[in-house]
Amino acid sequence: MILYRKDDTMTQVTPETIKWDDLDFGYIDTGKKYRAYYKDGKWSKGQIETNKDITISEASTALHYGQQAFEGLKAYKTKTGDIQLFRPELNARRMIDSANKLLMPAYPEEDFVEAIHEVVKANAAWVPPYGSGATLYIRPLLIGIGDIVGVQPAKEYLFSIFVTPVGLYFKGGLKPSKFVVSDYDRAAPLGTGANKVGGNYASSYQPGKLAKDQGYSDAIYLDPTTHTKIEEVGSANFYGIKNNTFITPKSPSILPSITKRSLLWLAENRLGMAVEEGDIYLDDLKHFSEAGAMGTAAVISPIASITHQDREYKFHSETEPGPVTKKLYDELTGIQFGTVEAPEGWIQVVKVD
Ligand SMILES: *Cc1c(COP(=O)(O)O)cnc(C)c1O
Repeated sequence: MILYRKDDTMTQVTPETIKWDDLDFGYIDTGKKYRAYYKDGKWSKGQIETNKDITISEASTALHYGQQAFEGLKAYKTKTGDIQLFRPELNARRMIDSANKLLMPAYPEEDFVEAIHEVVKANAAWVPPYGSGATLYIRPLLIGIGDIVGVQPAKEYLFSIFVTPVGLYFKGGLKPSKFVVSDYDRAAPLGTGANKVGGNYASSYQPGKLAKDQGYSDAIYLDPTTHTKIEEVGSANFYGIKNNTFITPKSPSILPSITKRSLLWLAENRLGMAVEEGDIYLDDLKHFSEAGAMGTAAVISPIASITHQDREYKFHSETEPGPVTKKLYDELTGIQFGTVEAPEGWIQVVKVD
């Protein structure tokens, strides 16, 4: 197997030689991928393939017109060595929504969940051990392929899943980081912001780079209609804590995060907090004691400050997560790694025989 490091040097790694504690959020070819093809109006039976490279037509709609969607979820190793998935059916449903939006044939929910189990089982040796903090990241893809030049949906599609062991997305872990409000939008008001599609990411590259060049972790996006309300933190959802309330934005151009949905439930039912989905005006930030970013890759990442033009809104601390953030993080990761009892139906164990 070849590990592709960020600086483009390559090293051979295997599950036996890999340093689990030293992983970044990078790509490793683990050797087993799940692939299914859509042709003549139906999906082929998916199977495990070994080549990381895929050969597709130069005229594929995914390449020219961005007809593609993706998902991101993780497999977690428990203390007893079980491999767990966290609410994978919600990823299946969200990918169906993305497919419908871009006129792609959806990969059925049950087949999607089964495929996740199958590809994780095939790569079981690559699930990082309990205690390393690392996880197996799972990346499903749906792309339009085939020979099409005109602007129209493809007739053929590829559904593909690869996995790769990853360390923490933000190296600092629970260390708070600074963000800056972008002048740009990642999505249009009634565009594809609520769908997990590549186009939203392509348009976030430049604003993200501008933020990083200024020394910030990433850009914060405002609502694209009025530019007065918080929408997204880079490629994660936003939450804030005001008094004993967990608040997160509601908008048709925000990606409906499964982590967000789970934290709303946990804040209310496990932490006994009030929860609210609604408008978060920039000016309101001065009343927030804590703020953070949430998503599968980032888990929960505390925000130290948000800079908007010549104003800086500061939260709990520059060095430590706030008390609510810490509790939410422990509750969520405890459920995912099997040390905290999961709400009914949230965890699926992968059978590895
Ligand atoms: C995937 C994603 C998230 C986080 O969603 P989760 O389901 O929690 O992983 C948030 N924002 C954007 C833009 C995303 O693409």
